[in-house]
Amino acid sequence: MAPADGHEAGRGPGASATEHALRRSEERLKLATEAAGIGIWERDLSRDRFYFDERVRALYGITDHAGDWSYRRWRALVHPEDLPGVESAFREAFARNERFEVEFRIQRLDTGATRYIRAVGQYTDDEQGRLTRAIGINEDVTEYRRLQQELERRACQDPLTNLFNRAKIHQLQRAAEAAWERHGVPFSVVLFDVDLFKQINDRWGHNAGDAVLWELARRIRGALRDEDHIGRWGGEEFLIVAAHADEPAAGGIAERVRRAAADRPFEEVGTVTVSLGVAGVEPGVSLRDLQYRADQALYAAKGAGRNCVRRYSQIAGAVLG
Ligand code: GH3
Ligand code: MG
Ligand code: MG
Repeated sequence: MAPADGHEAGRGPGASATEHALRRSEERLKLATEAAGIGIWERDLSRDRFYFDERVRALYGITDHAGDWSYRRWRALVHPEDLPGVESAFREAFARNERFEVEFRIQRLDTGATRYIRAVGQYTDDEQGRLTRAIGINEDVTEYRRLQQELERRACQDPLTNLFNRAKIHQLQRAAEAAWERHGVPFSVVLFDVDLFKQINDRWGHNAGDAVLWELARRIRGALRDEDHIGRWGGEEFLIVAAHADEPAAGGIAERVRRAAADRPFEEVGTVTVSLGVAGVEPGVSLRDLQYRADQALYAAKGAGRNCVRRYSQIAGAVLG
């Protein structure tokens, strides 16, 4: 006779309705988590033990022989930069008995590769009302995160030269201005423009002109320090935000840029030169003023015969009359 309460599991067709429902429910959960690519974990706080399902183990690259997982052991896999945020979310969720949702990087145990994990969980209480367990899911969001980073990068980039675009370089200018206003960190802008570029286009064609811009961008990027930002300001005009540089220092940077263009001929079109205008930040000078000053200095460089650098403070007398 089949037991009425279904305690004896695994009876196949003879199993009770409860057992059958339970098995169906487990199967549904397994298929759904598989389809969604999420794994389930549970943490026993009183014994300091984690339970990881197959998929969580796969996400972390945990082999079958890895033994028990304590909190400390799991924690060691999390990227140190992400840990403070994650742990404060845990603490807050515990204190308020609320759900948490965090994202962090881990280093996989097997390959050492970095993966982005999204974790959602909830603490649950026992009969005495103590929070002794946490349960939740882990999901690998690496591809999603990388795609997002790629989109963000492209949104800041000029497609022809791979330099920053105008919007991004403007944002970097504002950041430099904020650092100047708050902490007195100086910066300068260097504005430069290709000399007689119209002639290059007219003589060699637009595609050759594009190739010059691409090669010029490559050379100049190589002539700058990592902390200097360069962007395409428009057409054949470029702008450098020279961090921590007063006007004379930025004049030195501009001269390096000038030489990076003029010193070696370009493929197909030969020598290409640029003219540069430099302006350094000063008390009471807005970003707009600075931009105007760099523009004036560039104009002066063009007027002086091109292929040269002019600093605003050197020409200011002439400009102001
Ligand atoms: P100057 O020394 O006074 O700057 O002379 P210029 O000929 O460089 O100045 P002008 O402003 O007359 O010409 C700039 C030219 O740059 C005109 C425009 O067709 C060309 N140009 C702007 N953007 C691009 C681009 O993306 N690709 C190419 N090939 N040409 C461009
Ligand atoms: Mg030009
Ligand atoms: Mg121009």
